[in-house]
Amino acid sequence: MEVHCTVKNCRWWDKNYCIAQAILITSDELGEALPESYDYQQTQSIVQQYGETAVDSCTATCCKTFVAADG
Ligand code: SF4
Repeated sequence: MEVHCTVKNCRWWDKNYCIAQAILITSDELGEALPESYDYQQTQSIVQQYGETAVDSCTATCCKTFVAADG
């Protein structure tokens, strides 16, 4: 699957595409609550601990795989 992305300052960004092997998208609320280090590798344990996260619109989701390119 192609992941198009405009977040230029992410480590995984390359000319408007995401080149990460996998990404974790979650709700803004859970994204803010989880430690910065949590990513797609922890998806199963995150769901076990916090449950699945329904949202009302795309504006309530975030990319948890984002890492600042200079970070
Ligand atoms: S990890 Fe997320 S923010 Fe970073 S390039 Fe991929 S989709 Fe965009």
